[in-house]
Amino acid sequence: MPSTIVEKDVKNEKEQEFPLFNQLQTYEHEQLVVCSEPDIGLKAIIAIHDTTLGPSLGGTRMWNYNNEQEAIRDVLRLSRGMTYKAAISGLNLGGGKAVIIGDSRTDKNEHLFRAFGRFVDSLGGRYITAEDVGITVQDMEWVNMETKYVSGTPKATGGSGDPSPVTAYGVYMGMKAAAKKAYGSDSLEDKRIAIQGAGHVSSHLANLLAKENAKLFITDIYEDKVNALAKACGAEVVDPDNIYGLDVDIFSPCALGGVVNDETMPQFKCDIIAGAANNVLEEENRHGEILLDKNIIYAPDYVINAGGLINVASELGGYNEQRAHDKASRIYDTILDILTYSEENNTPTYAASNILAEERIAGVGKIHNIYSSKSQLSGHVGDMYKAKK
Ligand code: NAD
Repeated sequence: MPSTIVEKDVKNEKEQEFPLFNQLQTYEHEQLVVCSEPDIGLKAIIAIHDTTLGPSLGGTRMWNYNNEQEAIRDVLRLSRGMTYKAAISGLNLGGGKAVIIGDSRTDKNEHLFRAFGRFVDSLGGRYITAEDVGITVQDMEWVNMETKYVSGTPKATGGSGDPSPVTAYGVYMGMKAAAKKAYGSDSLEDKRIAIQGAGHVSSHLANLLAKENAKLFITDIYEDKVNALAKACGAEVVDPDNIYGLDVDIFSPCALGGVVNDETMPQFKCDIIAGAANNVLEEENRHGEILLDKNIIYAPDYVINAGGLINVASELGGYNEQRAHDKASRIYDTILDILTYSEENNTPTYAASNILAEERIAGVGKIHNIYSSKSQLSGHVGDMYKAKK
């Protein structure tokens, strides 16, 4: 007996010296898959955070990380974010993400992505991949040659195509929910709305808002883009540096992350911040608290911009654009629930959203304890794949 205890202690000490398991255990990641094919130059890492709700889904990012630890940290952070996004959006999906270490401008070829596709396939559907930063439709077509566990493929091949229209629709619905909370009505007519960015999502969003007769102000770093969009939807063009301090009702960040920070915070005159950009708050906790104190309603980014994920998830059961839109319209109720929880508990909206997402995961986790022939949610999505191919 004593010798077993000594052995165990030595083992524990060794495990603690190995920081990888500490990292996985800190946020309860399930699995980290390191994919290596030296002859082809493939160095990829797949992280599966949580599969309580279903198979993990999240894009593949190609990035020239400074070192392996940076890549691991990124894939762990991003995969965890996907768990929360799927959970709060009511999807039966878990959180996963992959990174390929390399320069997306110079290091791409067919073999690299087909090799990566084989690693994705080896997980048997525990991880479903899609496009992310540095990845194109062409790259995903190569991945798709080796595995069916790919989503976000072009419409021409039966996929869901460009997610921007559905993302924009979700942002629009989330913005209406925030207006309902702030003003008692979700009408955006005559509301003064500042949109940062004249890109894919913001173009669709601006059109929806113009149809509702909102008064729009738009900025972009590219003059031609912003001028064209402003003309199309009757908006006023604003200098990029002046967008934060405008006297508007709603600020909609649809370009960059980190735009709510110590420098911009004192400039805001709006009642609501609701846009498509990821990681809007430079520091989630601190800036979330400041917004709460300032009585500015913040629609959490990963909730309001979930239309893209909802679109991709709709592909799993056979894509239907109307169904994707219908599902994205539920962002309205989700945002209202979060804002109500935040108000009742005096908690920043970001934290409120995390709590509600965790509650759903815990609740669904509990029902897995009840035996039922239909209780395997992940099997359910697996069946959809069987039907697809
Ligand atoms: P996009 O590249 O088409 O548009 C972004 C626009 O912002 C570009 O026109 C760019 O010139 C402009 N921009 C960059 N820096 C700026 C600055 N400092 N000031 C003003 N404008 C600036 O991207 P997109 O697909 O429309 O996505 C917009 C944001 O929404 C991104 O943060 C993205 O991560 C996020 N998002 C997009 C989707 C989607 O479906 N496309 C889904 C979820 C989240």
